[in-house]
Amino acid sequence: MADEKEQNEPNLMFERKFAFDIWDDATTKKAFEFCEGYKDFLSKAKTERLAVKLAEAEAVKNGFKRLEHIGEINQKGFNAPVYSVNRGKAIILAKPGKRPVKDGVRMVLAHIDSPHIDLKVRPLYENEHIAYFKTQYYHGIRKYQWTVLPLAMYGTIAKQDGTTVEIAIGDKESDNVFMITDIAPHINYKFTEKKVSEAVLAETMNIVAGSFASKGKEMEKDLVKRNILSLLNEKFGIKEEDFTSADLELVPQGKARDLGFDRSMIAAYGHDDRSCSFGAINALFEAEVAEYASVVVLVDKEEIGTEGATSAKSNFIIDFVSELLYLQDGIHDENILRDTLSLSKAISADVTSAYDPDYAESYDTLNAARLGAGIAVEKFLGAAGKAGSNEATAEYTAFIRRVYNEADINWQTGGIGKVDEGGANTIAKYLSQHNIDVIDSGVPVLSMHAPFEIVSKADIYSAYLAYKAFLEAK
Ligand code: MN
Ligand code: MN
Repeated sequence: MADEKEQNEPNLMFERKFAFDIWDDATTKKAFEFCEGYKDFLSKAKTERLAVKLAEAEAVKNGFKRLEHIGEINQKGFNAPVYSVNRGKAIILAKPGKRPVKDGVRMVLAHIDSPHIDLKVRPLYENEHIAYFKTQYYHGIRKYQWTVLPLAMYGTIAKQDGTTVEIAIGDKESDNVFMITDIAPHINYKFTEKKVSEAVLAETMNIVAGSFASKGKEMEKDLVKRNILSLLNEKFGIKEEDFTSADLELVPQGKARDLGFDRSMIAAYGHDDRSCSFGAINALFEAEVAEYASVVVLVDKEEIGTEGATSAKSNFIIDFVSELLYLQDGIHDENILRDTLSLSKAISADVTSAYDPDYAESYDTLNAARLGAGIAVEKFLGAAGKAGSNEATAEYTAFIRRVYNEADINWQTGGIGKVDEGGANTIAKYLSQHNIDVIDSGVPVLSMHAPFEIVSKADIYSAYLAYKAFLEAK
């Protein structure tokens, strides 16, 4: 009876579908398998630089050649996959399509920086026989979430002789970890009366780094600090001044883990936005030879406002497209480049906030994305009255709907909080300024920007399938 009715009356409702409810067992199994690779990536890609290194290694495995050497490996033009790394902190990859580059490219742009805690340029000091590192947080965190949490230290110290030292301490079983302290409940009853925003202040987010004093130098001051410097010098050949030229980050210690009895979710550091990054590069690797040339860009510095040479605002993205045109046709021409960009289509692949029923009052329940209901499509973001938003046109949004629906992608709408209360923007606008159609589309995340964030395995797989469908679309 119901079937008969459906045949006569098509379903006019736009219903949210939870992927694992409707997928067959084989698809669910594929999603779980895909997420094993994703968890491994997250567990290793703890910083921008490490994410770039891993993406590069996978690209090389998939036959991509570094663009700088293209003349040697491919004299005939752009007919093999290429990539370029920008300062070790951003990577851009491309695959040729059936059509020439000048007909426009399909681009997926994601960011690989995640909220974390940086060391200050002069970090090490001693206070009451304890050595500490002073820190400066890297935007978007709730500071109280980062105290009394085992932290790992990663990064690069550049010495003035041009050599670099790579630091990775905390994630090996035998490693030490680092920690920011919190006050015991018994010490100050009034502490809990503080406003959440004032409970932990940036200048008290100091990393406990040691308590052992150098021996036999009783007349000298700061013996605990001196001992730390000796240890660092012994292990890494550095001195205190070397901290002034270092990219050192504190990130949550530990690996990505399955969440829940049914293992349908993943709890991990860095889903924002390494989930979309992982989906994007794998979509590029796995995509069939597409109609249009495909480009995937993983950028740095989204979380602190997209500034700098490795960010989405940098010309390196546009220069790369220009380079692809040059490879193909042997000319650098500003007009051809501008035309190419205006014919291009892009996805700004960034995570969105999943609806959290425990904080229901903060969401527009009709529009918010749900965990497990597939990749979100966001026509616009912005704060209050769409302030600062990159809004996709109705036509371009319809194009994305068509691509996703024709590929049977589980997708849903998304949005950031209530209009008068929340709001955010991401990197879409830095592509659209080049006259490219861009829309936001990414993975819904619970507890976004917390040290450990939650995603559904269904959404991770949906995003990968969606980006692949987009790159392959006509
Ligand atoms: Mn993001
Ligand atoms: Mn973010």
